[in-house]
Amino acid sequence: MTEELKQRYSDRTLLAVLAHPDDETFGIGGTLAMYAQQGAQVYLVCATRGEVGEMDSRYLEGFNSIAERREYELCCAVDKLGLRKVYFLNYRDSGMPGSPENQHPQALTAQPVEKVAGEIASYIRKLKPQVVITFDPYGGYGHPDHIAIHNATNLAVEQAANPEFQPQGNPPPHQVQRLFYQVIPRTMIRLGVLLMQLLGKDPSKFGTNGDIDLKKIAGMKFPIHASVNYLPVAKLRDEAANCHESQGGRRQSNGIIGWLRRLVGSRELFMQAFPIPEGKGNSRDLFDGVTT
Ligand SMILES: [Zn+2]
Repeated sequence: MTEELKQRYSDRTLLAVLAHPDDETFGIGGTLAMYAQQGAQVYLVCATRGEVGEMDSRYLEGFNSIAERREYELCCAVDKLGLRKVYFLNYRDSGMPGSPENQHPQALTAQPVEKVAGEIASYIRKLKPQVVITFDPYGGYGHPDHIAIHNATNLAVEQAANPEFQPQGNPPPHQVQRLFYQVIPRTMIRLGVLLMQLLGKDPSKFGTNGDIDLKKIAGMKFPIHASVNYLPVAKLRDEAANCHESQGGRRQSNGIIGWLRRLVGSRELFMQAFPIPEGKGNSRDLFDGVTT
């Protein structure tokens, strides 16, 4: 990458608001690395430490808890992607719908949306991003924490700009110029459904716990307003995925998922939620039309 390219976005700030360690890499790691490598200040707000994530006991050696291991993996990924900093909201992973973890008093989904939104809004005012990214309305694959963060971030973008919202320290209002939702490439999901059917498996029961419904995800249609080609930084994205070893990060870069990803190309897709775009739009840059 030339020196000129390395400075291309030096006056731009991007904030990703997500739920668990690994969301930043598996969903939008290419995009985050792409902007970070071109000089943008890229920050992450992560709501939990992924306390309920499944992992093989060998990954816990030297760690006191799942949360500790996952925070360690996140810090590794943040470093690979070139993010400036990660801020935790210190909630607890709520697990999938119906699990007893939903009832934990610190569970993210047990919090009022206004409270979580207020905290995110405070970070928006502090960091002053022009662009904010969060989950789509279905939270990618239906995880309740992803949906909670989607709702809270929508509200936070409004609150951050509202002078009547006065969080602690009362930083001045900030208007985010673009809010994007990450969208899972449907081609990849459809291929996944086909592949599972060919292998005689049920695509509505995907994942370690069988609680991800690939068929339902394949049927969801969110408009795509921007796609970011992260090919120049694909290596960094894969290195960040490898950091999340306890969550199958290495399988993301290799194996069948890696193959599927390469097949659909090194692209991450986004729907523009604010301002609502006129027409279809087909941008290659999340900072298109943004002023500094
Ligand atoms: Zn997640």
